[in-house]
Amino acid sequence: SKTYASGGGWFGARRVVRAVDDVSFTVRRGETLGIVGESGSGKSTIGKCLLKLVDVDGGQMLFNGRDIAAMSAHAFRPLRKGIQMVFQDPFASLNPRQTVGRIVSDGPVASGKTRAEAEARARELLALVGLEASSFDRYPNEFSGGQRQRVGIARALALDPQVLVADESVSALDVSVQAQVLALLHQLQQRLQIALVFITHDLRVAAQVCDTVLVMHQGRIVERGSPQQIFDRPQDAYTQRLIAAVP
Ligand code: ATP
Ligand code: MG
Repeated sequence: SKTYASGGGWFGARRVVRAVDDVSFTVRRGETLGIVGESGSGKSTIGKCLLKLVDVDGGQMLFNGRDIAAMSAHAFRPLRKGIQMVFQDPFASLNPRQTVGRIVSDGPVASGKTRAEAEARARELLALVGLEASSFDRYPNEFSGGQRQRVGIARALALDPQVLVADESVSALDVSVQAQVLALLHQLQQRLQIALVFITHDLRVAAQVCDTVLVMHQGRIVERGSPQQIFDRPQDAYTQRLIAAVP
């Protein structure tokens, strides 16, 4: 559960950014862990490390007791569906030329389900995330931001993940839609007993759904605790400033 990552490793890059440093945490099924911090503090990099989209240069990442940090891409492939991500801008990550039914069922088909099984499950999932049955045959641009976010969630859940990383999944939504999608994520996390890693720059949003919150600053965890501990008794000067800035 120790995650170290440097943001380095780009071809020809002279400057190596240590985006995440000496970060250690555990998240269990049925729990929601919040990662909070200002822009550039390393939140998304942690999410990308968990999905092995970024190489870590030290430490361990234990998933069901196996160190995925040290694992080759080949060895990780069969485990990959167990860790899914919902992105900030679902429009950018949903293929505009594919129907929603296709978007939600393609992953499971690629990992061995029959098209019929995958489509039946996709219909169930679309209902579970609160979309109408007719959504199955429609295209992403026919949906609102909040609905697209629901499609992104259904797509992630289609692979039956044990870990779901939600990176700024509600940040682009207006407040009432934000509350609906937050409630949905929380409900799914409970119902499916997922380990939810909830990334946001907004401490108030994290406080609504998280059991534990990590406050990140310049790539390091400066504070951790329940939302209540963090709001009522912030220990770190940076967290105190963050809370003072909450209107
Ligand atoms: P935001 O709230 O803006 O999404 P964040 O907390 O998610 O910010 P990261 O995206 O994890 O921040 O970035 C952490 C640091 O790593 C920043 O200094 C960023 O500039 C740097 N970084 C991230 N990705 C890259 C990249 N591909 N190339 C160079 N630097 C990067
Ligand atoms: Mg980010």
